[in-house]
Amino acid sequence: MSGPICPDCGSFNVLPLKKDNDKCNFCGWEGEKLPRKILSTDMYDEYVQEQRQKKKAREDGELFFLRVFVKAERYQDPVEDELFMMLDADCAQCSWQKPWYIYMELNSKPTKAEKDKIKKLKGVTDIKVK
Ligand SMILES: [Zn+2]
Repeated sequence: MSGPICPDCGSFNVLPLKKDNDKCNFCGWEGEKLPRKILSTDMYDEYVQEQRQKKKAREDGELFFLRVFVKAERYQDPVEDELFMMLDADCAQCSWQKPWYIYMELNSKPTKAEKDKIKKLKGVTDIKVK
């Protein structure tokens, strides 16, 4: 199997959005066109298993994608630490280029109170939950 892999959720469900952009239909990632990757058989089995679990969790309402956008790269690490203390996340990562954000996979939707708290963290400009 080969194709572009979403840099956030790891899904192959990436489709061209515009001429120079791709979009992930699973987690909502959008960005510059991604290189195609080829998976070996071993990687493929692991990938299929992981994606199947994620898809099921999503359907069962147990998987949410949170993106917390920050003003500059230097805010990523401190905000990520705060998010880990605040939320029950399985996975988190930072974007490697603009727009700067922290991506997290959550088991439950953040509450309004949690979102308000996140918005007050230093450097945070926006929050998106999918
Ligand atoms: Zn994705």
